[in-house]
Amino acid sequence: MIIVLTPQATERDIEELTENIRARGFGAHVSRGVERTVIGCIGVMDAEKAALSEQFRALPYVEQVIIISKPYKLVGRPFRPEGTVINVRGVEIGGNQLTVMAGPCTIESEEQLMETARFVKQMGAHILRGGAYKPSTSPYSFQGMGEEGLKLLAAAREETGLPIITEVMDTRDVELVAQYTDIFQVGTRNMTNFALLKEIGNTNTPVLLKRGWASLIEEWMLAAEYIASRGNYNIILCERGIRTFETYTRNTFDINAIPVAKEISHLPVIADPSHGTGKASLVPAVAAAAIAAGADGIIVEVHPQPERALKDGPQSLRFEAFAQMMERLRVLAQAVGRGI
Ligand code: PEP
Ligand code: MN
Repeated sequence: MIIVLTPQATERDIEELTENIRARGFGAHVSRGVERTVIGCIGVMDAEKAALSEQFRALPYVEQVIIISKPYKLVGRPFRPEGTVINVRGVEIGGNQLTVMAGPCTIESEEQLMETARFVKQMGAHILRGGAYKPSTSPYSFQGMGEEGLKLLAAAREETGLPIITEVMDTRDVELVAQYTDIFQVGTRNMTNFALLKEIGNTNTPVLLKRGWASLIEEWMLAAEYIASRGNYNIILCERGIRTFETYTRNTFDINAIPVAKEISHLPVIADPSHGTGKASLVPAVAAAAIAAGADGIIVEVHPQPERALKDGPQSLRFEAFAQMMERLRVLAQAVGRGI
């Protein structure tokens, strides 16, 4: 259940109530909004809910108690109706400004990464992406540069000022990757790697959680709940396409997932039209559709020479294509009342 406090509630009240909740053996999660603080009381059995909510309602500093029937509580909209804005080194994700994350699928060399980082920065991207640990369907394809790649990403951040995002696949790498990255990426293949989600939940590092390629939206929300239930609320949802009967495109970008995720959750939602389509020529159109549908930004793959890319070349934008797309998105952002 979710306990909404009155605007007059003090820090002492918050402390008293969280202690009260924990003493009963439940989890207490505090969300401080601009006007009101909300406390999530997690782990109450259905049969106990009515009586317990009556008790909490009687407290003078409690305005309302909402019983949540959905299996996800902390990432659901009622926990933070005003929406979550995540600040990453001064870049806000989930606010009025759209966020553009861009860079190569995979870090291949210093030149490739630096050239791309400088270009996307110049064109107005806000965050640099690049994979150092790559999830590959085939064990024989390139697995990424590992820590060397992380060092290159950090150097690119140093030069351009762009915060960085990179994928982590293994619980054993979380600590190391956290030393470099500003945002963890959990890839589609790991959305249900619960050990990884818990490990990331124990950190404070923001995380972009991709939807599993065969996952229901509810399963995606529950994966986010795994992270939040450990205390890390800095979660960004990412729709990256799902597998359907259609094979013309690499995946089917589920445009519905964007307004659904915005409606049922308070978390920022980012679209990945690169993996969503698998074809560079389709990326700008699907990026635009996602922004029009209410996404808080996009994550796209950009490569100086896509024909030479070690991974995901066919879906990587050339520099000119990225520049053109940014121009288009600028006009669109204005039309939907947002900045970019
Ligand atoms: C990627 O971002 O390069 C990637 C591997 O994405 P996904 O997990 O969506 O396939
Ligand atoms: Mn990729």
